[in-house]
Amino acid sequence: MAATNTSLEELGSHEDAINDIVEELDFEAWIDGKSVEANSRNTFRTLDPAVNKPITKVTQCGSAEVDAAVNAGWSVFESQWKETTQTERAKRILEWVDVLREHEDELTLLEALDTGKPLSDARWEVQGGIDTLEYYASIIRTHGGRQIQASTDANIYTRKEPYGVVGQITPWNFPMWAFGWKIGPSLAAGNVSVLKPSRYAPLTSIRAAQLSKDILPDGVLNVLPGKGSEAGAALSEHDKVRKVAFTGSVKIGKIAMKAAADHIAPVSLELGGKSPFIVFPDADLDTVISSLSTGIFYSTGEVCEAASRAIVHEDIVEEFTERFVEEAESYVVGDPLDSDTTMGPLTNKEQFESMKKYCEIGQKEGATLLTGGEPYETDLDGWFWKPTVFTDVDNDMRIAQEEIFGPVQTINTFSIYDEAIEIANDSRYGLAAGVGTENSSIAQNAIKDLDAGSVWINGYGPILPETPFGGFKDSGFGNDLGEEALEHYSRTKTVGINFDEPQI
Ligand code: NAD
Repeated sequence: MAATNTSLEELGSHEDAINDIVEELDFEAWIDGKSVEANSRNTFRTLDPAVNKPITKVTQCGSAEVDAAVNAGWSVFESQWKETTQTERAKRILEWVDVLREHEDELTLLEALDTGKPLSDARWEVQGGIDTLEYYASIIRTHGGRQIQASTDANIYTRKEPYGVVGQITPWNFPMWAFGWKIGPSLAAGNVSVLKPSRYAPLTSIRAAQLSKDILPDGVLNVLPGKGSEAGAALSEHDKVRKVAFTGSVKIGKIAMKAAADHIAPVSLELGGKSPFIVFPDADLDTVISSLSTGIFYSTGEVCEAASRAIVHEDIVEEFTERFVEEAESYVVGDPLDSDTTMGPLTNKEQFESMKKYCEIGQKEGATLLTGGEPYETDLDGWFWKPTVFTDVDNDMRIAQEEIFGPVQTINTFSIYDEAIEIANDSRYGLAAGVGTENSSIAQNAIKDLDAGSVWINGYGPILPETPFGGFKDSGFGNDLGEEALEHYSRTKTVGINFDEPQI
């Protein structure tokens, strides 16, 4: 593909880029180390959201493919993968990482076309997904059980063992990140993965799996694109899937959890969010505006931890609002393949319709629309939306309570610390929270009082392979990333070796 040899910025039109892909690559399911051929009956077309045109056809998997992948997974697990040492697995993953890095341009282009992300963001996320695989290959070598010195006549210790075949379901907003977050800890811990990416953006997951050919044993990594209600449901219901890891909406997370409960498979859920960012009166506004705008507008706001609720002290709200609106309007919305673009389209029509709906609801509820609230007009036929800011927002409004999953910021105000915390925590979600303050006592109290899985002071992030990431309340449980994720992909076996006094 041209993108592997040339600068992505020189790619030209979407049509050229798509033609390159279609000519050189196939996007079939990846099962047992092979592409499973698509036929006209069971394929779907993935769309480029910037131009609303098909990119390529993709295999649409159902329960038969899930069965095939799960059986292939168990076969390789029993025959060889479970006998591998941590070092052997680490080496194979690192070898794969090298190949993925050689294909970074290609994966970047696929991600940008499939999701509408600007190329620089797509590249950052491809690198992040690959780094995460590398991280787990590194830390697995020191992962293990522990010695328990509770007895003088028994040697008691724990062993960390894999589950076997793990089912993993990912959303469309960060395909390559989600791939690394799920596959890294699973394979490093000795499991076999069957991953179902979202049908809206499956290309990088399939391609990354293809690039593991002859490095990972056949069947260790399987990727099954398809509908959630078919492939996703079949995977979470499958009684030979010993663990289910799901990232997506609360609604579907509950369905996956119930399905897994039927065969007592443990579940980890990374779900939605409606994250607050509290701006105290002493905050450094340069820092706050920059981190909060990235927090809500990065990836067109299609971000689970999007900082979508600004809770701003009444003394500074006027200056904050003026500067924030200016920042929102400075985003360059447009073609993801244009290097000047800082915000691409929404990923699909449903998202676009949902934005329309929420912008109308906000105004009907009495919030004041300061900027945006409408499609961004371009020559391209995609799902572009203007960065949007609402003020005069009460926290019980729908736009402050429901996950919009688009570039919409709400601003409401507070006067005392307790009120700020109360508003921030008044949400079914608890994924992340941000705080702007120069006062360390305020910061320390907020860290303790905010009911969220991540709290960031004077910034929004970072999320790194080393940093556990997960939600409280309806945002889910069981962290991705960090050593914690490795724990979620390992079972603990307790061993007791009893011994007598020596008789000689
Ligand atoms: P979604 O819940 O609609 O879909 C997620 C995945 O589940 C997709 O692969 C889908 O095909 C599959 N699915 C659908 N029906 C299924 C079923 N019956 N059984 C099993 N699987 C099924 O979510 P989405 O629209 O793809 O993604 C957006 C959501 O994901 C947002 O709520 C966002 O906050 C959340 N998200 C959370 C995190 C996190 O780390 N907390 C990260 C990214 C996205």
